Amino acid sequence: MTLYSKESVAATCKAMSRTGRFVHSFLITGAQGTGKKVAARYLAMSLLCSAKSSENEPCGVCRECSRILRGQHPDFIEVEKSGASFSVKDIREKVVADCYTPPNDCDRKVYLLADCDGWMDAAQDALLKVTEDPPDYGYFIFTAKIREVFLPTLISRSMTMEVHEAGIGECEAALREHSLISPKKKDFTEENISRAAKIFGGNIGCAIEYIEGRGQLAGSGKLAKAANTAMDAARAIAERNEYALAAALASASGNREEMRTVLEMLSRVIRDSAAARVFSGEGENGNAAGFIGCAREESLRIAEFAGSAKLNEMYEAIREASYLCTRNCSGAAVASVLTGKLL
Ligand SMILES: [Zn+2]
Repeated sequence: MTLYSKESVAATCKAMSRTGRFVHSFLITGAQGTGKKVAARYLAMSLLCSAKSSENEPCGVCRECSRILRGQHPDFIEVEKSGASFSVKDIREKVVADCYTPPNDCDRKVYLLADCDGWMDAAQDALLKVTEDPPDYGYFIFTAKIREVFLPTLISRSMTMEVHEAGIGECEAALREHSLISPKKKDFTEENISRAAKIFGGNIGCAIEYIEGRGQLAGSGKLAKAANTAMDAARAIAERNEYALAAALASASGNREEMRTVLEMLSRVIRDSAAARVFSGEGENGNAAGFIGCAREESLRIAEFAGSAKLNEMYEAIREASYLCTRNCSGAAVASVLTGKLL
């Protein structure tokens, strides 16, 4: 089974399968749409698959794997939140109390706690005992956008795996594969696939949402709007036009999730500028830089006047702003601080 852009997860799983020694707690981190849940299911399949290949990869088709993929495996528990984030009660009742009951069908039992962003320390405290001294059959997978949402004690007893966007080519291949099972099959034209892969720089989840017109930012074309805003902001930075930059960022500041998406796209533009400086003159049209952002021309123009220290500063400022968006800061405040730091 192919795991696009998650080589490190796949390699870790293989190594653990080969030795038969798995750690009991995993943290999977990465931006929205990079496939954290896909990686988590792959990990669960590595733990429960009954027909692994000679390469120690999960088969993806046996009874265990297919039930995991359908979300119907009794020993792969996708823990649900009762509110916006996991509560102490969720943890106590759905994980701690449950995990002392042996597995149903397999010799392992895997818990997935997805999207832990925003959970309280108290909820994590409730988990410390089971993660420190889990039953032999018990495994725990946590996902979040950033590692900092986890307590140091949990981090120290877990294996962290960061997932990243795929390359453009990988993204296109994944979109073609996805089109076969998409309810919006007709919308996956080669033109749309290539456009989405380019705009989202290989972020498969976002590219799929973009084409299918769904997800947190869909419904009113918000994801497409976020892409346009990121391109406007990139152009404003390239032109060193403070007014235009403030206007672009302000247009996304009413919706934190939209703001984060814009910032994620913008951080890739700056990453491209940095790569373009390093690889300038190499490869046709600077292809060696391996562009991943939505505004290639603009990233080249930014690289002409911003040195690597400045680019690094810009990149950090964007990451910081994106983090602030997860901490209940107002989008407008984040936008105005960021405008000052980028120009
Ligand atoms: Zn299998």
